[in-house]
Amino acid sequence: MFLEHTGSRTHRKGWIEVICGSMFSGKTEELIRRLRRAEFAKQQVEIFKPSVDTRYAEAEVVSHDASSIRSTPVPNSSNLLLLASDIEVVGIDEAQFFDDGLPEVCAQLAEQGIRVIAAGLDMDYQGRPFGPMPRLMAMAEYVTKVHAICMRCGDLANFSHRMTASQDLILLGETDSYQPLCRSCFLAQRNSAEASAATDKAHRE
Ligand code: ZN
Repeated sequence: MFLEHTGSRTHRKGWIEVICGSMFSGKTEELIRRLRRAEFAKQQVEIFKPSVDTRYAEAEVVSHDASSIRSTPVPNSSNLLLLASDIEVVGIDEAQFFDDGLPEVCAQLAEQGIRVIAAGLDMDYQGRPFGPMPRLMAMAEYVTKVHAICMRCGDLANFSHRMTASQDLILLGETDSYQPLCRSCFLAQRNSAEASAATDKAHRE
């Protein structure tokens, strides 16, 4: 489990933490756990999420187990610089949906003495590194990768398999559209999808 390092109270130092993983890996729950601990320590806490994530009520970070903390939807990572300047701990949820400026914005906040905790999907449904996450992970002091359980074999899962045919990168995560899979089940699934696509094509020709 991640434990906060305890810095000097007089000289405030900032840093970046990243919590990443697949769908159903508990990223948001871990973000909320860290933020609640900071709240108990009477620190100024604020959460932001990209305004593209409108799955649930506006102005709320909601995790799948319904323990939620209020948050502010923002359209662009540069908005964080204005909104977060007086805050000690900045939480960012669904970080993968932010623009490419997010890692530099997080670095600027950390340089101002702010603790930044960003949670997001590290890979998209095709297993490709997702949006600003790779740079953010490279620039962070602490990276925590959390895992789901593979729905086919029960191993640890780090891929988010999409069960619908949509090619849209921003398809928001309802439980019925994604399955967490381990590498070998993800590969097996992709190979069988490619095989059946080839059969369909052969039938059409
Ligand atoms: Zn598996």
